[in-house]
Amino acid sequence: MELCTHNLGYPRIGPNRELKRALESYWKGEATLDALLQTASDLRRQAWTRQKAAGIRWIPTGDFSLYDHVLDTSALLGAVPPRFGSFGEEVPVDLLFAMARGLLEREHGHGSHGLAPMEMTKWFDTNYHYIVPELKPGQSFHLSSQKPFTEFLEARQAGFSAKPVLLGPISFLRLSKVEGNGDAATLLPALLPVYQEILRRFAELGCEWLQIDEPALVLDLSPSFQKALTVAYQELRSAAPNLKLLLATYFGPLRDNLEAAFSLPVDALHWDATRGGSELESVLNTIPPNMILSLGVVDGRNVWRNNFSESLRSLERALAAVGPDRLWVAPSCSLLHVPVSLEGEKRLDPELRSWLAFAYEKLREVDLLARLALRDPVALPALEENRQALESRRQSSRVHDSAVAQRVSSVGPLDLQRKSAYPARRKAQRTRNPLPLLPTTTIGSFPQTAEVRKARARWRAGGLTTAEYESFLEGEIRRVVDLQEEVGLDVLVHGEFERNDMVEYFGEQLAGFAFTEGGWVQSYGSRCTKPPIIFGDVSRPKPMTVRWSQFAQSLTQKPMKGMLTGPITILQWSFVRDDQPRATTARQIALAIRDEVADLEKAGLSAIQIDEPALREGLPLRRADWPSYLTWAVEAFRLSASVVADSTTIHTHMCYSEFNDIIDAIAALDADVISIEASRSSMELLHAFVHFRYPNEIGPGVWDIHSPRIPSVEELVEGIRRALTVLPAAALWVNPDCGLKTRNAAEVVPSLRHMVEAARRVRKEL
Ligand code: GLN
Ligand code: ZN
Repeated sequence: MELCTHNLGYPRIGPNRELKRALESYWKGEATLDALLQTASDLRRQAWTRQKAAGIRWIPTGDFSLYDHVLDTSALLGAVPPRFGSFGEEVPVDLLFAMARGLLEREHGHGSHGLAPMEMTKWFDTNYHYIVPELKPGQSFHLSSQKPFTEFLEARQAGFSAKPVLLGPISFLRLSKVEGNGDAATLLPALLPVYQEILRRFAELGCEWLQIDEPALVLDLSPSFQKALTVAYQELRSAAPNLKLLLATYFGPLRDNLEAAFSLPVDALHWDATRGGSELESVLNTIPPNMILSLGVVDGRNVWRNNFSESLRSLERALAAVGPDRLWVAPSCSLLHVPVSLEGEKRLDPELRSWLAFAYEKLREVDLLARLALRDPVALPALEENRQALESRRQSSRVHDSAVAQRVSSVGPLDLQRKSAYPARRKAQRTRNPLPLLPTTTIGSFPQTAEVRKARARWRAGGLTTAEYESFLEGEIRRVVDLQEEVGLDVLVHGEFERNDMVEYFGEQLAGFAFTEGGWVQSYGSRCTKPPIIFGDVSRPKPMTVRWSQFAQSLTQKPMKGMLTGPITILQWSFVRDDQPRATTARQIALAIRDEVADLEKAGLSAIQIDEPALREGLPLRRADWPSYLTWAVEAFRLSASVVADSTTIHTHMCYSEFNDIIDAIAALDADVISIEASRSSMELLHAFVHFRYPNEIGPGVWDIHSPRIPSVEELVEGIRRALTVLPAAALWVNPDCGLKTRNAAEVVPSLRHMVEAARRVRKEL
């Protein structure tokens, strides 16, 4: 006896990132489309086989994508922005890639400027990015892809119990942008006939269950979307009365959308038990008598092994309320957000490994839980084994460090505060380092050339000794310090050559972090990241960057900025512990960074930059939860920065430009200088700073480093002048909008010269 199980989605990239390689060779013209499609089909087959082997009853299809499932949905619905031209019955693969990646001039046609890609943004609060549907008022839709049907048939013909997955109409619209900021909900009437057609097709094909994903149900929904929800599902139901619909919600509790969700005419509803908070009782009280409840008890967003006894408590509660025929077991959401399998991890510490579960292992857990919930004796040993693994984690001295716990609990208000308020600090800082008006600086990294990466790889493989590698890095630092002096920048950087990645570099040196060999997850398209796993209390055994910053400072009389990644960014881009609040982990990381800040200051650095590009990404999905997040996030930053004397300048950097709704929190960071991305939004964002009277100094990026273009002196002058129309000269810095890591020397050197020259020209006007 066991409960019915299903999965919501499986990683697409393949166990060894096969899809990434296939895509990239196709894009480079080294492989044919057929070869790419063959790899894709092999990967799908492999994924289905694995899911079935794990014991899953209903296996998702259509969750696979060559690039992104939201982009696939745009294609399915014929929502192709007009600039990409017309197409026939089916959106071709190359068109899909053009939508995602844009086209260069030479690809698009001579004399053209190429084609801008569609926008990309984060998928809810995950680190996955989707392609934002681009719609316009009066948009029409028509079925333009056979992909969902072909993949369904492919799986069924291969003998799998296939359950197709579709992104639902409400979420599709809610995630799209409408030209002129229109209300996407008004496009529902145009959209619904296509969804109805899709449902009818599935019914004709003999499909039994269709999963419709509506993660938008965990967001704040406007009244027009609330109304659209009810209308949409009535219409869908009437199109295919006999097709069984499973409505999937995930990533959070339903809250004010709960009643509406359970009153929809669907046959099953999936609810995320790992993020649903204390909502289970309301769910059980609200679910109508014929609806099946799918309980997502296994966390699809993190890498930890499931706590069986806790999950069984929820399952047993649900069982008592709805009975075994109406209860399904599943992961909380698609497994897109976790690595494929632990099987390849040969070097992980065995104890740590026993605490982890990746996608495949999570499906094994789902199967075991479905059996254990009905007390299948065969599964009992697994319950005991699970209990032991969890117990070892709870007790492990690798996880718990009493010194860290003590330090965290003894943090007081004074630790979160600089010694003096900003005006006094400014005076002390300019006395220590006199700077001209409109001081020039960069964001930190200089081009990471193939040579730098090769040296690091050789050193890691033992081909270079540490002494050789370090003297290579010193040479690189010397080169960029000389360059910056020669160009005439005011505040210098060391170039970050020792770093592969701004989180990994720190994670590797902090206690409490572990790294996998193959724990890749898709970030977007063919891009994958390998997030560190924060498994234990975090501390900093020894200085991490001091050696490089101190060396760099020794080469120049000009102020050198120490360069650190902030606690929230480290937290956001890692898999984090699930046995303590995120706020606690953030505070531990903040203390480790604080130690580094103190050591940099002691080593003579008079400026320290703490990057927080991920501060905004950490915002909770619901507005009501923002204040509490922002409170602890801001505290973590302040804790890391506040240890320094008034005369030490704290810089921070953020890569985005939407500040309006979090400007108070940004100001509360109390950094002396913040550099932000601005060149692309042509300084509009500065209005937020002006409007809310941002009190400290700001460096709005005047040079867009995301493009290979070398900006002219004139346009940089223009940019600085524009900034000066809204900000006082005393508050303004001149810098590029992000690090120079991905640019090459041929672009960087002239651009920096132009930037310095532009600052000089505008200074003369002051
Ligand atoms: N200091 C980092 C760099 O210059 C900042 C990177 C980022 O903002 N993502 O590369
Ligand atoms: Zn940046």
